[in-house]
Amino acid sequence: MIPVMKPWLGEEEAAAAADAVRSGWVAQGPRVAEFERRFAERMEVSGAVAVSSCTTALHLALHLLGVGPGDEVVVPSFSFIATANCAVYVGATPVFADVEAEDGNVSVRTVEPVITGRTRAVVVVHQGGAPADVEPLRRLCEARGIALVEDAACAAGSLHRGAPVGSGAVLAAWSFHPRKLLTTGEGGMLTTTDPTLAERARRLREHGMNLSAAARHQSRQPVIESYLEVGFNFRMTDIQAAVGLVQLEKLDTMVRRRRELARDYQEMLAGIPGLRTVRDPDHGSSNFQSFWVELGPDFPLARNELLTVLADGGVSARAGIMAAHRQPAYAGHPHGDLSTTERLTDTTLILPLFHAMTEQEQHTVVDAVRRAAGLRVAS
Ligand SMILES: *Cc1c(COP(=O)(O)O)cnc(C)c1O
Repeated sequence: MIPVMKPWLGEEEAAAAADAVRSGWVAQGPRVAEFERRFAERMEVSGAVAVSSCTTALHLALHLLGVGPGDEVVVPSFSFIATANCAVYVGATPVFADVEAEDGNVSVRTVEPVITGRTRAVVVVHQGGAPADVEPLRRLCEARGIALVEDAACAAGSLHRGAPVGSGAVLAAWSFHPRKLLTTGEGGMLTTTDPTLAERARRLREHGMNLSAAARHQSRQPVIESYLEVGFNFRMTDIQAAVGLVQLEKLDTMVRRRRELARDYQEMLAGIPGLRTVRDPDHGSSNFQSFWVELGPDFPLARNELLTVLADGGVSARAGIMAAHRQPAYAGHPHGDLSTTERLTDTTLILPLFHAMTEQEQHTVVDAVRRAAGLRVAS
């Protein structure tokens, strides 16, 4: 089977993880601190706080903003369910906004109608790595005193108006799950342009302690810590950070390769009636974390039929991005018009795209799609 995604890991990551184990310090320590410095540098932000996942990063972001019961958080339904769940974790109510058909991202057009007097935050997702146009959203939110949080889980290495996605974000959340470009197994990062928020986030991810366990360990004098507020255990381990440091060095190479593969797909799939491929928006460039195609009425098969045909042909494609409002977890949750979300979630699929993908594997995928569309294939 050709997988939909395969992390690009090698001996270097294995050696780095082994070094961390041999060092005797495996919990959050010097490697996490180094990973945070390098990540902040690469994303052009002043602060990065490593956490256990993007989900905990999003939770922490809303907690830092003081969002709580009675507040509303605008999120796209068209996202992995963690985006909506983070609002529930802090006791707030997620309010679903629709997305643009072009890139699957929320916009001023879709967010503005669902803002109410209770809206405290908007979470904008850079879906599948496609940069959302955050500038107009930032203006919309700033004018109303609403916080804008960026869910950049998929978007490491994507560009927005020439700058790294997330570089202008007061708070942005990142994922290192193997389904994304950079991986540490599980893991995440919260980045911020606000040093005060960074300091508090560092404390909150470690039980609200006034000094880190690593700092206490290094001290020659006995130190008694204190717990300044109720925090969490959202820490990353040094084994994960060791892997992350190697992965971060490879990010530019990964993005370059994914963009080549995406361009090849766009060229080879062009001209198939009823099939549209995802593209870069005008305001930026994607890392193509997910390469999705939309099937229109002119395509001879329905999405799920095509998935079955592809699976029979040895191609492991995936149904497109989920719609949170359709899940049992949000049954009965009120929402407005989500017609684009519903169309995209029903008619899109994600094709295999991974760093080590060969030309032959890509041709196998394209031929399988062409055959399903009733077109001739070369071989
Ligand atoms: C993967 C993903 C998450 C969750 O990331 P984890 O690190 O697995 O918690 C959140 N939001 C989006 C948009 C994602 O794609």
